[in-house]
Amino acid sequence: MQYSGKSVLVLGLARSGAAVAQLLQLLGARVTVNDASPRDRVDADAEALEAKGITVITGGHPPELADGCDLIVKNPGIPYDRPIIMRALARGVPVITEVEVAAQVTAAAIIGITGSNGKTTTTTLVGQMLRAAGVPATVAGNIGTPLSAVALDMPADRFLVAELSSFQLQGTVSLRPKIAALLNIYPAHLDYHGTLDRYIDAKKKLFSNQTQSDIAILNGDQEIVANLAPEFVAQVWFVSTCRRVSPGAYLQDGALMLEGPGMRGASPLMDVREIALRGEHNVQNALFASAIAFAAGASPQAIAATLREFTGVEHRMEFVRQVGGVSFVNDSKATNPQATIKTITSFTEPVIAILGGLDRGDDLSALLPVAANRLKAVLAIGESGPRMIEMALLAGVPAALAVSSLPEAVREAAALAEPGDVVLLSPAAASWDMFASFEERGRIFKEAVHML
Ligand code: ADP
Repeated sequence: MQYSGKSVLVLGLARSGAAVAQLLQLLGARVTVNDASPRDRVDADAEALEAKGITVITGGHPPELADGCDLIVKNPGIPYDRPIIMRALARGVPVITEVEVAAQVTAAAIIGITGSNGKTTTTTLVGQMLRAAGVPATVAGNIGTPLSAVALDMPADRFLVAELSSFQLQGTVSLRPKIAALLNIYPAHLDYHGTLDRYIDAKKKLFSNQTQSDIAILNGDQEIVANLAPEFVAQVWFVSTCRRVSPGAYLQDGALMLEGPGMRGASPLMDVREIALRGEHNVQNALFASAIAFAAGASPQAIAATLREFTGVEHRMEFVRQVGGVSFVNDSKATNPQATIKTITSFTEPVIAILGGLDRGDDLSALLPVAANRLKAVLAIGESGPRMIEMALLAGVPAALAVSSLPEAVREAAALAEPGDVVLLSPAAASWDMFASFEERGRIFKEAVHML
């Protein structure tokens, strides 16, 4: 798309909004940014944009704004049923997300990574593997730096390693990753997408512009993902923790194996016990990262060395501290039941879990067997706290207690714990009922642990 002289409305001023507004202005567009927050809450960001000649409108999304523009770039979190978006679509104004603009302008080859869980861990691992292998790469996307902040300056011989959410993908049109990976699909974000099918459709957009010279890497252990393979034009690689796949990466007799398309037989990468990350789900993430990095040209040696060293990302099964023989672990990023199940089952020790947060009406029944077998106690916080207590009682967890704050949960958990136990914050829910973000929730947990 030609942006010069076009009138573009950017909805949402959060990090990616500010980045794409500046990128669009650089490309010659007339840019207006519109944010629903009152001016005083976004004053600093608004002023910085205004200083560059970008118009900023705050305090709501007046639908009339959709009338005068050629294009809307919306924040991924803004649902499509907002009046301003419906009005734009009804008038034929295209509505895209920031990553689409980035994909259009970048010369770099894109590695796109999506899935319900494991995106950040896998994306970070890929970035480190490529760095270790000397393959030029920049990590961006959902993970921190917005794609549009780096897209324009990227040379063609560099990989842009992008963590992509379903919300971002839904607003793409021409995105075409050289390598695209779908880690898994669990029912998530159904409040936004409406149905599981529509959620899957958003994920599938990552592959829809790929050609035969591109690579699609899919979870071979999850039918809902593996069965998509025939729909894709790209060469398909698989990842499996239980059977041989070729080409792809898999676990066999306790060894991580890699098989490229031209390779005669598999090459063993390393013993699974050498992976520094804990948990079975991280074996899957490690296999995905290995396949992706290998497809991008990293050597098996660099891949294995990274897996031996990488101990994880903050707020994902992050070990905080031991107090009196009790380990405290911060897994604040577990924002849905599936993530929490994976984390709890990664421990062989008795677990005291802090559960609860924003109540999206998620089905909690999948938590029952893990709670029954692994949990010694539950401390429940937040909006979904009462449902967590109900679940814990139904599972027969010996102690289930509602508390009013996260620091209180930490203190109660510490009082209940015995040497050898793990106290785990893995809420199975988003944070926005009590906190600004899962990062803030994790930090408050860690502060409380350090105060013990
Ligand atoms: P995302 O970026 O997709 O949210 P993260 O790598 O940040 O994923 O991990 C978030 C949480 O999801 C982890 O703390 C863990 O509980 C869970 N998780 C990570 N990888 C997987 C996986 N491959 N399958 C299922 N759950 C996972």
